[in-house]
Amino acid sequence: MKNLLVTLLVVMICISIANAQSRFDDVVIKTNKVTENIYMLEGSGGNIGVFVGDDGVFMIDDQYAPLSEKIKAAIAELSDKPVKYLVNTHWHGDHAGGNENFGKDGATIIAHENVRKRLSTDQHSKAFNRTTPAAPSVAWPVITFAEDMNLHINGQQVMLIHVHYAHTDGDTFVWFPDSNVLHMGDCFFKDRFPYIDLGSGGSVSGALRAIEAAMMLTDADTQIIPGHGTMAAKSDLLSYYQMLSTMYDRVKKEMVAGKSVDEIKSAGLTDDYAEWGTGFINEERIIDIIWTDIDSQSSK
Ligand SMILES: [Zn+2]
Repeated sequence: MKNLLVTLLVVMICISIANAQSRFDDVVIKTNKVTENIYMLEGSGGNIGVFVGDDGVFMIDDQYAPLSEKIKAAIAELSDKPVKYLVNTHWHGDHAGGNENFGKDGATIIAHENVRKRLSTDQHSKAFNRTTPAAPSVAWPVITFAEDMNLHINGQQVMLIHVHYAHTDGDTFVWFPDSNVLHMGDCFFKDRFPYIDLGSGGSVSGALRAIEAAMMLTDADTQIIPGHGTMAAKSDLLSYYQMLSTMYDRVKKEMVAGKSVDEIKSAGLTDDYAEWGTGFINEERIIDIIWTDIDSQSSK
């Protein structure tokens, strides 16, 4: 009996390993040209930005570790130079999961100081009841900043701009003023409800202020790389802002009227935004996020 159980356990572990591998085996890295030397790579996880030139490759986010070889192959199609700098827009594994692999290759990892804090310690998510163990030290950012930072590379200025308590407490926009391109990380989920990581210091009001900051930087010609979704324009960002601010106001109004979270969920507040809830965050979850955020603010 004991042997049978052990065999069963081994088989189950093998199946789960096989499943984990196959999830990434089928992923194809798709390269989208943004400008002559800036690209957006799509695979599984957050959108990657790649800026190539004589000085080397400047990279924004790196998705999941099992995809690193495929991502390197896609970058090699764009440049024969190594990845010199890698910026993390925030600490989440679908954006920074490849840090260890790129760090081992010699990339200098740069991020907001709270990204280093979170990558270097175990992180528990109450929302998902999941603990993410600390990453190995080679995956930690070696250059950190508190507010803003400029890089001068490949003949252009690259501005790293921290936005406060938005998707997390360590979000960075990467702004290319000379190319009019902005990577917003997960402060922008195009055409879908966002995940806002309240447990990592994110907040809905901060997320709204981050979008306002992005709207100040951009114009009708700006090409915006969202954390998730296809290449975007300022008009898409505006729709996203209207959705999030409308949802925030609606939930708040119901809370002030004394409704419970379940009553709010059944009130049909998201009906006109139903198509925004087909992704990772559905209609119930966006209400949960906004409700929890307002509830924690008011109990402070
Ligand atoms: Zn994220």
